[in-house]
Parts: sequence; structure tokens; C-alpha cells
Amino acid sequence: MAIEIPEAFVRDPALRPVAEKVRAGERLTDRDALTLFESPDLLGIGAMADAVNRAKNGDVVTFAANQHINPTNICVLRKTCTFCGYARLPKEAGAYRYTMDQVMAEANLARNGLTREFHIVGGLDMGAGLAYYTEMFRTLKRELPHVHIKALTAVEIAHIARIEKLSWTEVLVALREAGLDTLPGGGAETFSAAVREQIADKKLGGADFIGVHRAAHALGIRSNCTMLYGHVETLADRVEHLAMLRQLQDETGGFLAYIPLAYHPDDNELGKQLGREGVSSTGYDDLRNLAVGRLYLDNFQHIKSHWIMVTPFLSQTALAFGVNDMEGTVVQEKIYHAVGAQTPQGMSLEALLRLIRGARRIPAERDSFYRILRRFDATGEEAEAA
Ligand code: SF4
Repeated sequence: MAIEIPEAFVRDPALRPVAEKVRAGERLTDRDALTLFESPDLLGIGAMADAVNRAKNGDVVTFAANQHINPTNICVLRKTCTFCGYARLPKEAGAYRYTMDQVMAEANLARNGLTREFHIVGGLDMGAGLAYYTEMFRTLKRELPHVHIKALTAVEIAHIARIEKLSWTEVLVALREAGLDTLPGGGAETFSAAVREQIADKKLGGADFIGVHRAAHALGIRSNCTMLYGHVETLADRVEHLAMLRQLQDETGGFLAYIPLAYHPDDNELGKQLGREGVSSTGYDDLRNLAVGRLYLDNFQHIKSHWIMVTPFLSQTALAFGVNDMEGTVVQEKIYHAVGAQTPQGMSLEALLRLIRGARRIPAERDSFYRILRRFDATGEEAEAA
């Protein structure tokens, strides 16, 4: 696949050998990824990422009509994940664990709406084991069978396995039987052991995180993957993280999309330690992470921007930096709003369409497996078979 990148678009001489490889469709090395992270030439990196994305996905930008449900914020790692502002101890003010009726009350918002996917994640709650989630998924599938269930990060799967004394695979099989369709990519943070020691000391390690996704892929359960950036990680840590994701994708092909996630420093211990409260990631770094993901992760079809973390306008700009998928309608987001996200908690279909059209791209609603359900032209909606 030859990629066209005009010479004049890449101004940093250090990027030229990387651009040559991109033009020739050659795989980038870890050293190349580091060069991309180090270069000041953001527009050059963006031009390369945009060219690769257009060759893979054309002008189409997808989104899903999804709805977040966060059923519990009780978490055994409350004191050790220093970047988290969402978790609570069981008796702490603000702690909650939904009953099935409460889950259904939120889920029922989907009954007459657009929602086709539930994104369900929460804390590592000793009171929310396998029975809690299998009952939840069975109830959701019985009441709203048309809605896909994307639920439980690898960290939550490992937590349930530990408290139930089961293997990861046994947990995944039981959850799938109850209705689980795919896994989200959250909880990865940055895989580097040194970083985890500083920000998530007791959390599932990087190799085990990859192990849970490998076990899911072996069962045919597809998943997403993420990287939390903009905290204490080095650029080399970012490359190491991406290399682990690319390697598993080579092995299984089970990842659907890569989603870099910006660290938010408000209302969490790490933000205080770093003296960073009120100072979140920069637009420059947000765009760079998306573009480098597109260029280095050559075995991924989809790179997604999460507007909740980086703002809708930055996500729109990212459509010229290698991104082909935007976070969807969401309805009610809690986790990033607990650490200072100032973005809306949900977005209307009209607002999403306006952003994508404003970037001169073609909006298309997709399902959770990235199959296009319908495209929207400039004036209205054009139905298209899935
Ligand atoms: S990041 Fe996840 S595992 Fe860590 S404290 Fe927050 S909810 Fe718990």
C-alpha cells in the first residue's frame, strides 16, 4: 500500500527516514516511534497519520450510539491508584453499588433511544463478583436484547477471577454465557513497571493485562485497548506500551481499536503530588498520541478519540491526525468527570454529526464490531445495510 505524503509536509529532517518508511508501507520500529514522540513537527506527524488513515478508512468517520453504566465505585485499590478520583471505600461518603433495579433504571434510557451498546465498567468491588455481573448481563439481554454489552476491563476480569478462585478463562466463559459481547480497553494505564509502581502500585501488571486480553481473544471475545498518558510516564514508556499492544495484535488480531486516554489531574492524589491540579494534557500531546498510535500500530484498523477526555473540538481536529472513530453519544459519563473533565456527560447525535461534517468527513454510525449501520450525507440520512 503506497502512501502519498508530500515532501514539504514533513519539515523536521529527523522525521524524513520515518516518512520514507510510511510512504513504502513499511513497519515502524520502536526507535521510529520514539522519534515521532520526540519531534516538534506535529503537523508533519499529523500529515503522515492522516495519509495512512485515509488509505485505510477513506473519508468515513464512525461513532457508536453507546451508553455508559458505572455500576459500582467501590474499589479495593482506592488508596493505591493515585490517579483515580472515582473510587471509594465501602463506607466512604459517596460510595455506591447499584442494585439490579438501579442498573435497569439507567439502562432503560436505552429503551426508546438510539443506544446500541452498553459500556459497563466500575471499581474492584468485593461485593460485586461473578453472580452480580452474570445476573446483570442476563437481565440486560432479556430486557434489551438489541443492545451489545461491552463490559469489564481486564483488571475487573482478573479481580473477579481472584475473588471467585477461578481462571480468567473460566470467568470470561461464564460472563459470555450471561451476555457479555466484548471487553473495553480501560485499566491499562501505562504498562511500564516503574510507572505502575508510582501511580498504580497494586493494579494488575502489564503482562497480566495483556494475558487477560489474550485469553479473551482465544475465546473469540474481541476487545479494545488504551494507554493513559500525560502523567509520570516517559516517551520510552509509551513506546514500550504500544509495542506490547502491537505484539498481541500480531498474535491474535483480536483488538478492534486503540484509544489513547489523557490523564486528568483534578481530585486525585497524583495531581496533588505532581502539583498539576487544573493542568491537564495539552492539545499538542493529545494529537501526537493519536497520530503516533495510527503510525506505529500498523495492524490496527481503528484509532478512536475520546472527546470526554480531550474535548469535542480537539477530537474533531484529531480527524486530521489519523483518527477514524469518535467516542459516541455516551449519555452519562462518571469516571472522568470525577477527576475534573469539563466536557459534557453525553452528546446528541446532531452534535456528533456537526463535528464530523465540520471536519469535511462522512459520518457513519457503526455497531460494536465496526460494521457500518448507516451513513449520513450533508443533508440527511442515507440508510446502508450492515
Ligand atoms: S483506577 Fe480502577 S482499580 Fe484503580 S482505584 Fe480507580 S476504580 Fe479502582
